[in-house]
Amino acid sequence: MQQLSGRTALVTGGARGIGKAIALELAGLGADIVLNYSTSLDKAKEVSDMIKSLGRDCLIVKADISALSEVEDMVETAKEKYGKIDILVNNAGITSDNLLIRMKEEEWDNVIAINLKGVYNCTKSVIRQMIKQRWGRIINISSVVGIHGNAGQTNYSASKAGVIGFTKSCAKELASRGITVNAIAPGFIETDMTDTLSDNVRKTMESSIPLKRLGKPEDIAYLAGFLSSSKADYITGQIINVDGGMAM
Ligand code: NAP
Repeated sequence: MQQLSGRTALVTGGARGIGKAIALELAGLGADIVLNYSTSLDKAKEVSDMIKSLGRDCLIVKADISALSEVEDMVETAKEKYGKIDILVNNAGITSDNLLIRMKEEEWDNVIAINLKGVYNCTKSVIRQMIKQRWGRIINISSVVGIHGNAGQTNYSASKAGVIGFTKSCAKELASRGITVNAIAPGFIETDMTDTLSDNVRKTMESSIPLKRLGKPEDIAYLAGFLSSSKADYITGQIINVDGGMAM
């Protein structure tokens, strides 16, 4: 029997990047996947086909995670199909970088709404049923920038630091109900989010990372798979860096 057989996992922003790698990893470990997307329908369909070719089921659901009503509808749709959600991966996120002196209110609000309120919306919508079944896994994707800060990312680092506080508080609230809550803090990972970096910035970054390379989405996904499994039963409230040794 596979480690996640019989489990259903909801992965936000699962159509591309880190979310796609996590959805595929969890499916590979035996979970059925509720694949959330916001704008990337075609890519979501491709990931769904890949999941089905692994022998798992996949339900694609569109929802803007910053809107509570859309998230509640998504969770209801998922529960109608699978009866439950066992694993929630709060992965979806955006950047909207600017120096604070130039940052518009809208740039601040959008990042906080998706990266932080989105995590509240999704977590709030799944925990009642997880509490009832006395089992659940919540994995939040934060960032090393939420721990160490980064010039030009006050909005993003505040949202990711917020996710860390949220993770620890949720872990304390939910531990007695058999639910673990952990966060992964990736360093620089090769996805659309970091694709815009110039060759120079990329080289400087690589040389500052002890393992001398940017991370791959799978580097994050392997840890998400482990944290979702019963092998991680005794781990909660932790923020685990996956960053090639960049922040230590
Ligand atoms: P990405 O390639 O830019 O993908 C972002 C994902 O978020 C997409 O699937 C997108 O869905 C989804 N999304 C954005 N806004 C959404 C909304 N309102 N509702 C639902 N989904 C939404 O990013 P990534 O690099 O894979 O990042 C994934 C997570 O890792 C993010 O939380 C990010 O902050 C974090 N992270 C990334 C890095 C890195 O170096 N890449 C480092 C640290 C942390 P659609 O395409 O469907 O719109």
